Amino acid sequence: MLVLGIESSCDETGVALYDTRRGLLAHALHSQIDMHAAYGGVVPELASRDHIRRALPLTQQVLAQADKTLQEIEGIAYTQGPGLAGALLVGTSIAQSLAFALNVPSVGVHHLEGHLLAPMLEENPPAFPFVALLVSGGHSQLMRVDGIGQYELLGDTLDDAAGEAFDKTAKLMKIGYPGGPALSKLAESGKPRFQLPRPMLNSPDLNFSFSGLKTAVLTLVNNQPQLDEETVQDIAWEFQESVTEILTLKCMKALKQTKLKRLVVSGGVGANKRLRERLNEAAAKRGVSVSYPRLEFCTDNGAMIAFAGAMRLHAMQQSTPDYSFSVRPRWDLAELKAPA
Ligand code: ATP
Ligand code: MG
Ligand code: FE
Repeated sequence: MLVLGIESSCDETGVALYDTRRGLLAHALHSQIDMHAAYGGVVPELASRDHIRRALPLTQQVLAQADKTLQEIEGIAYTQGPGLAGALLVGTSIAQSLAFALNVPSVGVHHLEGHLLAPMLEENPPAFPFVALLVSGGHSQLMRVDGIGQYELLGDTLDDAAGEAFDKTAKLMKIGYPGGPALSKLAESGKPRFQLPRPMLNSPDLNFSFSGLKTAVLTLVNNQPQLDEETVQDIAWEFQESVTEILTLKCMKALKQTKLKRLVVSGGVGANKRLRERLNEAAAKRGVSVSYPRLEFCTDNGAMIAFAGAMRLHAMQQSTPDYSFSVRPRWDLAELKAPA
């Protein structure tokens, strides 16, 4: 089954073609990062308007790349939520209109299910069941995954998400937008000099809290006589050490608790080199395997939506098409069910 996937939940328009027999055929992305950078964050109305401009040209682009025509599409997947309502509406209405016109089935995909399953697009995909660490701009969750749609939440952030902590910390040190990649780049030149807390490192549960860490950075920054490049690098180093130590320890705890032997990491923070280094090291010690998406599929993309949608469409081929549309800006992953 040839499935077109459309992602438009936030500031990236992603389109991809996934074939359930042949795998990923093509994918294309347009990031709005430069457009929003001037505002220091995503401006929802600008995001929606840009998705309108990009979605169809990107669709034509992936069709050309895969040497396919619109008429060959057998199913359409789109991000239904969570995300920005206006942005989601653009992808949803384009996807549903196309599905109606082509008379093919469609499915609304949960954005986080997309992230969660993204490592399965790689060679040697992890088998179920596994523990998933989802660390993105809006979420920091540990989950037990027994199959498509079988997600049990093991731990969550009590406040900021890991990516959000990177972004906000970068912002207060004025080191660019989005903060995650910029801060980790600076951290590479940093060294141990400052000490920051490790919030909830030893809490008995699998929850996280990152907002206090950001406040600790603010205090540290305010106490510096001057914020020269070296100081920023050293603070970035220590901040990254703190976040990656917490994430690594909680992953190992979740594996121990569930007695599972596979860890799957996804979301934008999953691109962080230091995190991968620490997880690989800790997992090797425990005889556990770790899977990641390729770097470009850690952050938002169409391929993960095409894949998650293809899995669902493939499993529910008989159902009657539903071309009505509604978006779900807030949508709990644990509400999902396995495809019937
Ligand atoms: P959600 O999926 O929860 O709705 P999102 O789609 O905004 O949020 P992603 O696109 O998965 O999140 O990831 C973006 C986040 O990842 C940003 O917060 C960004 O700073 C962070 N990020 C990206 N690369 C890195 C990196 N190398 N190190 C740390 N953080 C990173
Ligand atoms: Mg993004
Ligand atoms: Fe995302």
